[in-house]
Amino acid sequence: MKIICIGRNYTDHIKELENEKPADPVVFLKPDTAILLKKQPFFIPDFSNDVHHEVEVLVKIAKVGKYIDKKFAHKYYNEISLGIDFTARDLQAKLKEKGLPWEKAKAFDGSAVIGNWMLKEEISDINNVSFTLEKNGNVVQTGNTSHMLWKIDELIEYVSKYFTLKIGDIIFTGTPAGVGRVIAEDKLGGFIENKQMFSITVK
Ligand code: ZN
Repeated sequence: MKIICIGRNYTDHIKELENEKPADPVVFLKPDTAILLKKQPFFIPDFSNDVHHEVEVLVKIAKVGKYIDKKFAHKYYNEISLGIDFTARDLQAKLKEKGLPWEKAKAFDGSAVIGNWMLKEEISDINNVSFTLEKNGNVVQTGNTSHMLWKIDELIEYVSKYFTLKIGDIIFTGTPAGVGRVIAEDKLGGFIENKQMFSITVK
């Protein structure tokens, strides 16, 4: 399976990082080795002093497809979740400066937190899902899928032009404002509406 990540999909996060609003979604991949195993802590890698949390809504692909029209995209997923796209911001800044790919800063082991899955039927409107990230009991990021620049079905249409989507592939749909550094012993909890989707400790 592969993990397809979307960058800069919320205007407030674009402002935060002083990026320009892109004409197309920013897309990058993480390998399956990036998945943080269930019940394991997240270890800050030794090549970074500035690892940030990015809380994101996740979509799990349930049907093989390529060139999927956004009108039919809803047929290609049944479950959503919440996760974290851990980012070594210091390393990413260096790579960006040189115009190099982001993988070392974004796709390292443990950088993809994947929460529990919920059926999309449990949600009344996929384009109006609110979510939060708590750090040590305080809310640090809040978002709502209604604020996405590209909605989930549009993202599926876009990424499937480039990559055949296969069963089990996961799309990270981008982070809202509030990204920030994590340090050892931080406890992170992710919620969709009021339902806890994951809980992890930083080491
Ligand atoms: Zn992200």
